[in-house]
Amino acid sequence: MALEICFATNNAHKIAEVQQLLDDRFVLKGLRDFGITEELPETQDTLEGNSQQKAEYVFSRYKVPVFADDTGLEVQALDNRPGVYSARYAGPGRDSVANMEKVLEELQGQPNRQAQFRTVVTLFLPDGAMHQFEGIAKGQLLEAPVGEEGFGYDPIFVPEGYDRTFAQMSGAEKNTISHRGRAVQKLVDFLMSTTL
Ligand code: IMP
Repeated sequence: MALEICFATNNAHKIAEVQQLLDDRFVLKGLRDFGITEELPETQDTLEGNSQQKAEYVFSRYKVPVFADDTGLEVQALDNRPGVYSARYAGPGRDSVANMEKVLEELQGQPNRQAQFRTVVTLFLPDGAMHQFEGIAKGQLLEAPVGEEGFGYDPIFVPEGYDRTFAQMSGAEKNTISHRGRAVQKLVDFLMSTTL
């Protein structure tokens, strides 16, 4: 029988994307499919901590196998900020344009433009064992946004080996080299090689 796993998100697009990488031993469902409608706690100060906190919350209350992801942009010249605070860097409104502007302002005149996106995925299996998977995409930050695709900081991030921003790539192209794509691929490799 297939194992139902909760992906601790309500983003149907993210769920479908990971489901495509799994075989029929696994059925992915989102939070709402399990009747989970409350906002998950995210009060830790690391990506590892937040992703664990979200997965652990679901596992301990709802007793279902679950994984959660957490992502941040780590800018070298800013001591790895905004990092875990990426979504609300310019304030509680989660405004991506304001967030990008704040990063660009802090980097004005700074020759070191190196940055990376980092994703941490935390999985809880039915026996309560916890596993974490990390995905990193290294790159450089521009001085002004370019491109219309994607979201968040995509318009100012040029991944290593490319001369276009993430916001100038299709979702499929970005997925093959992105932080989240890499972390999810490690999760999928692990699940596919595990006997449950
Ligand atoms: P989350 O953990 O996936 O919710 O990501 C937290 C924040 O990081 C988002 O609100 C965005 O600001 C930023 N972020 C995450 N993933 C990406 C990405 O792939 N491109 C650009 N920004 C991202």
